[in-house]
Amino acid sequence: MFYRLSWPANGKFATCGPYKPSYISTEHDNCPLCASHIGGRYWEHPRTLAINGTRFPDFLFTTPYPAVSERFVELYKSSGLKGILGFEEIEHYRIRKTATLNHKYYTLTVMRSKMSINYQESELEFGKTEHEHFCPLCDPQRRTINGIKRMVLNEECYDGEDIFKLYTTGNALYLSEAFVDFVKKNHLTNLGIRPLDDYEKRIVL
Ligand SMILES: [Zn+2]
Repeated sequence: MFYRLSWPANGKFATCGPYKPSYISTEHDNCPLCASHIGGRYWEHPRTLAINGTRFPDFLFTTPYPAVSERFVELYKSSGLKGILGFEEIEHYRIRKTATLNHKYYTLTVMRSKMSINYQESELEFGKTEHEHFCPLCDPQRRTINGIKRMVLNEECYDGEDIFKLYTTGNALYLSEAFVDFVKKNHLTNLGIRPLDDYEKRIVL
């Protein structure tokens, strides 16, 4: 069973956004088959994150998201979970004068899974415009996915990754049951997720 990361909307924790960011494209964001740009752009260093609020969670949702706490980074490194290729520090912060932030946040570089979407068993809504470009890996339907009711992945190519992206859905992040259990066990805060088999359900840990 897999989950997709989804922005928590309960307002319990601070929200944030990159402050005057500069973005570049990197090779990591391109499809290995057709070279199309499929991911979000890379946020260049030095980075400044503007945080609005005084309660700082372990998962802070931003672009590229999420930013994760130092505590998450330490716990993840000894967890045996698979999928994160690297952590990158956010150097600077703009926070409220009354707030104290005593740790840094990091962004993630996450692997792309070989798994594809099972279009027969999924319930998806597609954009009306057919793309001129076709690629069996990154755009097999020649359409953008606009809505999800249920998403089924073809698991015969599953390599055991616990956090991953797909070639077909840009920067969306997917999580395994083991990843969600790890977050629960360590009481990490503010992870918003939706189960792929019941996508209308929102869960915030
Ligand atoms: Zn492609």
